[in-house]
Amino acid sequence: MTAGILSPAASPTPAVFDGRAGVADRLGRPVRDLRISVTDRCNFRCTYCMPKEVFGRDFAFLPRSEVLTFEEIERTARLFVELGVEKLRITGGEPLVRRDVPGLIAMLAKLRTPDGRPVDLTLTTNGSALRALARPLREAGLGRVTVSLDSLDDETFRAMNGAEYPVARVLDGIDAAREAGFGPVKVNMVVKRGVNDTSILPMARWARSEGLILRFIEYMDVGHSNGWRLDEVVPAAQVVATIDAEMPLVLDPPNYRGEVANRWRYRDGDGEIGVIASVTQPFCGNCTRARLSADGKLYTCLFAVDGHDLREPLRGGASDDELRALIARVWTARGDRYSELRSAATTTLPKIEMFAIGG
Ligand code: SAM
Repeated sequence: MTAGILSPAASPTPAVFDGRAGVADRLGRPVRDLRISVTDRCNFRCTYCMPKEVFGRDFAFLPRSEVLTFEEIERTARLFVELGVEKLRITGGEPLVRRDVPGLIAMLAKLRTPDGRPVDLTLTTNGSALRALARPLREAGLGRVTVSLDSLDDETFRAMNGAEYPVARVLDGIDAAREAGFGPVKVNMVVKRGVNDTSILPMARWARSEGLILRFIEYMDVGHSNGWRLDEVVPAAQVVATIDAEMPLVLDPPNYRGEVANRWRYRDGDGEIGVIASVTQPFCGNCTRARLSADGKLYTCLFAVDGHDLREPLRGGASDDELRALIARVWTARGDRYSELRSAATTTLPKIEMFAIGG
């Protein structure tokens, strides 16, 4: 590692944040998580993410030549780890529609932090390919898996995923993940008012009885295709109140600074839920996440308008030192806090789609 990159000049206040080494941005936030989108394609057409009216048969997804190779992804991830990243999340699009993701996992599982620790390696999926791939992913070194499921009600779920995909097959994917040794599996549920808010309690009861960690995500104004409206957001506080009325909850302290979900434990025994309140309780001040799109752009915010191209230097012969310095420059210049500044005006700004940079 180039000493200068982690010098006080490049990284003014990271120790104040979490006491660990790493390059920090203008607001003192170190880069700790890298979300890697391995494809912009998906076999679902979730209404809030990739609605089929917009992303139909004719939609031009990235040509293969523009998508980073596994070698390019591994190299980029390694440089991020050298700059302080400790957690890698593989996402998309649907990451498991890309061929041989276990091969990529095996490459990433070899990475070590500067003080010799393995990285926390996770993957977010719609679950549709887990029956086939959970075991190879586990054997390749994947640590954890998060499965997205918005309802247990088949009709509601089929309508939300836009692909008539049945609940039963996602449940089978979750079973496959558990059989392969992933546990506890996390489940992401995006809550949209009038669409699946009646699924909150059934999902909570089910997740608790199955030993799954359910995380409720406020419907966000990512991208510009989903026609987002504030009145369709069910505030996290309302989700918590709904569950608390039947199964009393107590707030747990965060595991670490920068944790996205507020975690609530059931008062009378085992189990927890998480709520991700990026609309009603923005957490920009603790945001340590960078995002790498499938075509090699670095985004410093989920709500960014544009990213910084890493593919061109990656393919143009840049050295590791040059690339690391470029990434460090982008991160140290970062001042994003979109969610804290969100307003009627900002929601109409052009923004990158979530499937392009990963959730
Ligand atoms: N295909 C994978 C999956 O289904 O989990 C990974 C990519 S997906 C974009 C990652 C997560 O983002 C999913 O849990 C999805 O529900 C969530 N997501 C997508 N659009 C969203 C939105 N507008 N608001 C909140 N969460 C969203």
